[in-house]
Order: sequence, then structure tokens, then C-alpha cells
Amino acid sequence: MSKNIQLTGNPFVDTGLYVLSYKAKVDDPEQLTLKKIRAVYGDGSELAKVNARLKSFTMVFGPNNPLSQSSFRPKGNQKIISEKNIKAYTGVISSFLHEMEQSSPNYPLCEICGYEHSLNFDAAVRPVLMAAGAKDRGSKQVGRDWIPLTGSLGNDAQSLPSASRAISVCAKCLFAVHYMPLGMMLFDKKLVCFQSNPSRIAIELTAELASEYLEILRTKKGKSGGEKIETKGKGDKTTVIVKHLLSWIEKRQTVMKEEDLPDSVTLYVWLFENQKIGDCQIVEIPSDTLQFLWQARKCGYKDDLLSILAGEGKLPVDAQLFSCIRQSRDYLRLYPSKTIMGASPGLFALYHQLILNESAQALKGALSLAQARLKEATPKEQKNLKKARMLEENPDERKRFKKLMLDLVKDGRFNPADYHLLFPASHFHPIKVEFRGWKTIGYYLSHPDAEVTDFSEGSQQIGENMKPHPKIKQITKLYFDDYLARKGIEHFQKHVVDGFNRTYPNGLQWLRGVYLNLAKEHPGFTLEDWDEFVQDENGQPQASELLFQMRLELTNLYHECIQNPIESK
Ligand SMILES: [Zn+2]
Repeated sequence: MSKNIQLTGNPFVDTGLYVLSYKAKVDDPEQLTLKKIRAVYGDGSELAKVNARLKSFTMVFGPNNPLSQSSFRPKGNQKIISEKNIKAYTGVISSFLHEMEQSSPNYPLCEICGYEHSLNFDAAVRPVLMAAGAKDRGSKQVGRDWIPLTGSLGNDAQSLPSASRAISVCAKCLFAVHYMPLGMMLFDKKLVCFQSNPSRIAIELTAELASEYLEILRTKKGKSGGEKIETKGKGDKTTVIVKHLLSWIEKRQTVMKEEDLPDSVTLYVWLFENQKIGDCQIVEIPSDTLQFLWQARKCGYKDDLLSILAGEGKLPVDAQLFSCIRQSRDYLRLYPSKTIMGASPGLFALYHQLILNESAQALKGALSLAQARLKEATPKEQKNLKKARMLEENPDERKRFKKLMLDLVKDGRFNPADYHLLFPASHFHPIKVEFRGWKTIGYYLSHPDAEVTDFSEGSQQIGENMKPHPKIKQITKLYFDDYLARKGIEHFQKHVVDGFNRTYPNGLQWLRGVYLNLAKEHPGFTLEDWDEFVQDENGQPQASELLFQMRLELTNLYHECIQNPIESK
């Protein structure tokens, strides 16, 4: 066996190795040696006492291992761990350690780590258990009670991939997994293992848990000195992971004084269950999620983040922050509601920029719209406008905002590009936009004094759906030039910019007229193009968003012309 220990890629064994390296006070499991492991383990009695108190131990190994085995306990007192349990347990684990120290190449390679040779499991385990007073129940084999999720020969349904024989495992893997319970937490009722690249993240996240448990074990003894310790995250659904990541980040930033996360970080959360049903899934935590939490802590929003997280437990898992940030979705509790304040403007801007990929410019646009609307409102209206979800629930108010946008574009205080950033297209044929922009404006109606910080450092990518529809640009420009040539800018202002609804009470009819006129002289205005531009899949015209965007463009062309009459000619 090699002198130094290597990580295995198996999340269960590696978690045990992370805990071992924490206990041995080395930074990395690869700095572990047999000697250091022996020093941590001693005679095994400490490990036995710790695991006996951790509720996660039974979740990892089930009720049939020597430490939990109730048949090793006196009748009438089967809930309390017995000397026989301890003797059998330490006997077996010591025998694994002994095998580690003198592994033999006579056995096949370990199917967990692939480095070491396996051992004669029956010879290592059965005599020890019998010496501790257990009944001989025949040959012993590795199953789920020794390595999570490895299946057992006793039950076909659980036995894959070892249907024809038990799995071959080395002593190192068998030994290391017994340190897992000290590094376990629960996420939505499942046990969690971390795996990462670089590996130090998983090592530190696991070590952090081990240090918390060891502290609790030391201070909370209970009457008998053996009070059971609950697994972290019980009843906490997903919030616990975010909190755990934040406290790791805090340590990195304050103790290690690290400015930035590495550019490319991969973190996997293995969620597994090894009790009645065996189950396992891997959740990837994208780099963006970690960057968001990193920046949130760095910019001083940690408490703010924790306060919007508090109470989210009532939400379905899919609506919780962890799921939303992982899937780049909007998070409800950022916005004020009847019961919560919502996020501070800083955290709100950070989430929108880093997770939702919205630009600072879009947020500034929303803020200036909210401010302009409040400015023209009476004090009574202002109070109403500041109410949570007011804009979302009130279509008339949204119409009023559209009118305001046109007015602001006319004066050059808002422009179509701002609109497209705030209302990206969700659909192109015919054009429809995302609703979220209204929620953003609604947020700033409640926070009109906010400042919008730009977190992008100039790296913001503008998506295709945040650019104007090329056909809208083309039509409005052709129409504008033609109009001006025939009737002049003042006529255009009176009848199109200011009086559009009066001049053209049926917008769709106007659009059709414009389109037919252009079709006479320009390519790209066929009946088919019209269908694609205006009609939905059922052949019904859907022109209201289209007309609004055209009016924004026309008003903007007017504004540009007034500003630079010669250039825009
Ligand atoms: Zn192994």
C-alpha cells in the first residue's frame, strides 16, 4: 500500500478522508499517512463514542452494523449502546486499519478506489464479531451496511452492480467511511456529500461540519453524557446549504483574506439515502451561484441575504433561493410583499445582474421610470404606487407606465434600448416580452431612493432577446423618412408622436397600411413575412406589443431628429 493516501473519487470514502484530514490537522487528505491516521484513531474508542451519538451514523450505515446492533444489548435496555457494541465495532474498525498497514496483492483491486488491493473481508470481520459475543451467521460480505449504496446479496433489488458476487473493497475505503458521519448534513431530508474542483472547497465544507459537530459533542453531553446529536439541516429544506456555503465563504474572506474565487469552480452536492431505499442524485452548484454568494458576502449583504432566507422554509423547494439561483430564476422574496420587506437595493441589484443576467443599465432604467412616475403622482397616488405588487396586479397602471415611457423617450430621458434591456423578448413571432421588467419597476417604486451598483465590471453580455427586432427598426425608419419627406417633422409630432391614438384609433389597421405601402417598393414584405411578424400560431394578429415597440422607435426617431436635424435627415 502506498505510504500516502490518495483521494478516490468516491464521494463517501472521500468525505471520510476529508474528516480524517481535519482531525489529523493536515490541509489535504493526500498529506495523510498511515502513521497520522493511526494517531487519530488510537484504540478506536473515541470514534465509537462519537458515532454512537451522531444520528447521521445510523442514516449512513443502517441499524445492522456492530455499533447500532440492538441484539448486542441487554434485554429491556436496547436503546442504549452497550460495551458489547463498542467492543465489536472497534474490533472491526481496528481490523480494517490493521489490514491497511499490511495489505496484500493477493486480492483483486478495490472496486471503489482502484488503487489498493481488497482484503478477505470475512476473515477480517467474522472472528472479531464472534470474539465480541455475536452469533455466527455465516460468511460476511460487503453490503450497504459497510459502504453506502453498494447493494447486498441478500436482496436482488439492492444488489446491482454486484448481482453475482459481493463488491471487492480495500481496507482503506472500509476504514475511511466510518469518519463520514462527522461530515454529514441533511438537504431536503437527504444526506449530503461534497465534491469539488478544486478539491479544497469540498474539504473545507466538510471540515467545517466536523468542527461544528465536535464542538457540540464536547459541550452538549446530556444526563448520561451520551445525548444524541441531530444532523445539521434537519427540517431546514434547502436553506441550510446556502447558509453553509456562506459561512465557508466568510471564513475564506476573513481568515484567509481571499479577494476572489477561482474563475472556474465546480461543486457537486451528492444527495443520498442509504436506509430503507437506496437513492442518490448529484446536484451541480454552478460557478455563478458561488460567485453570487461570494460577492454578496464581500459587499456586506450577508445579513440581508440571511434575513430574506429566514422563513423561506414554507416555500416549495423549487421556489427556494438555492433552487432559484442554481436555475437562474427570479426569487420571489427579493420583492417586498405584505409580509416581508424584500432585499436591500444592493442585494437586489447583485441578484439581478449575477443570477438573472440583467444589466445595471436595465435596473437604472427601471429606477428612473419609477422615479418619474412618482414625481408626476399626487401624494395619495404615491402611497398607492409604493404598495407591494401594485404594478404587477394593475394593468391600467402598466398602461400609464407605457405612456410615461413614450413621453420620456420624446425628451431623451429613456430610450428603446433601455426598454429592450428591461423587457427582453420571450417570443419573437409575434413579439412578446418577459413580464419581469414590471416587477423590477415595482421594486423601485418601493425603493425610489435606491442606487444601482454596477457589478458587471464591463463584462455584461447583451443577449439576442435584449436587442430590438430588426424588422421593427427597418419599418419604422422607412416609414419615418417617407413621412418626413411628405409632411415634415411638425406634422409627425402632432399626428404620430403626440396624437397616435387619435390619428390611428385602429393600430392594427395602421400597421397593415404601412406594411402594404412598403411592400410596393421593398423586398421582405410578403404575406408570409406579415404572418411571421404579426400573427400567432392560430393565425390571429397579436400586435399590441409590436405597436408599442414601433411607437417607441418612432418617438425616438423624432427625438433624434429634433436633436440633430441635419444628421437624421
Ligand atoms: Zn479502496
